[in-house]
Amino acid sequence: MAKRINRAVVETTEPLALTEEQALSIVNDLRGTCGNLDMEIQDRLGNGVGTEDLDTKSLNLIDEHIFNCEVCGWWCDNDEMSEDHGVCEECFEPEDKEEDEDSYEDRMNDENYYRDEPEDF
Ligand SMILES: [Zn+2]
Repeated sequence: MAKRINRAVVETTEPLALTEEQALSIVNDLRGTCGNLDMEIQDRLGNGVGTEDLDTKSLNLIDEHIFNCEVCGWWCDNDEMSEDHGVCEECFEPEDKEEDEDSYEDRMNDENYYRDEPEDF
């Protein structure tokens, strides 16, 4: 049944399919790397074959396991996806910068307070 991949050599406009086995081996090769999905597909289905030639089912088999982080470009396990869909936990930065500015102001006020103290001696 794996011999069906030979169809890739014949020119066709039909979408190509990965076997589940092939999809999983691509997942294993890409996970934790910044590898190229098109290259992995080409290795298995033949020269010139890329993501756009695959059917949705094959792409879903890969999507079920890993995703390509938009920020760092690494393939991460779906478990590592942050609240921001498509960005890994390591790259995800919650917007809490304003809080930092507030605490800086508080610290300045504190410093002024302490600076007055020695004059009382
Ligand atoms: Zn990332």
